Amino acid sequence: MSLSLAGLWLLGGLLGGGDETRDCSASAQAGASTMQRIAESWPLRFAGDPVRRYVLRLGQRIVAQVDPHHVDDWRFFVVRNLEPTAFAVGGNRFVVSDGLIAFVRNESDLAAVLAHEIAHQRLGHFCDHAPTDAERIRYGSIVQHFDLDTERAADADALHLLKAAGYDPGSMFEVLRCLSERPGAPVSQLQARMRVLQSSSVRDQPRAHVRVGGLEEIRAHILEESGSSLQRCQ
Ligand SMILES: [Zn+2]
Repeated sequence: MSLSLAGLWLLGGLLGGGDETRDCSASAQAGASTMQRIAESWPLRFAGDPVRRYVLRLGQRIVAQVDPHHVDDWRFFVVRNLEPTAFAVGGNRFVVSDGLIAFVRNESDLAAVLAHEIAHQRLGHFCDHAPTDAERIRYGSIVQHFDLDTERAADADALHLLKAAGYDPGSMFEVLRCLSERPGAPVSQLQARMRVLQSSSVRDQPRAHVRVGGLEEIRAHILEESGSSLQRCQ
């Protein structure tokens, strides 16, 4: 039971045509209604699903660093799709795929993806850039749904988020490397971002190494359900 990659292109249509891109409150509202439409038409995991619960805990742990009093306002969803995909919808809503969870090396790398998406929201990127570009979900948000400068800004903010949440900031680079090694990946764009990350001053490991824990079990659950042997980044 998985959504085809072509199905993911639907989002481009869902998000297209908005004229309210300069207004942040309208952008938040658009995000909520887009998420509603996604929930109606995509195979999302239900609230009590262990995979979704895991992603929620991980996402909220990062959010707690920047919005500790409104953690529950940030919503994290998981789509049953085996392509490694993640994107922000706007309005504090985020979607990651089964495929991404199965693809990443570890919890820290998955946290990097979420931190990057959270950074887009935090930095107000949805106020100025309506995510109308279906390109953004071809390989997940990690690739380009905004222009390169915007992606780099989100990467830079993600490093601070990761460190604050007790994860290795180096995971941002590593997860881009992983995606760049996939067949058909937009290598030059990803490498442009990786070059900036390589020269970043936020490189040292955080003191705390607390984990949500349980990624291996969650991954095994996804593989068992999908009957697939998904390749994992090394
Ligand atoms: Zn991005």
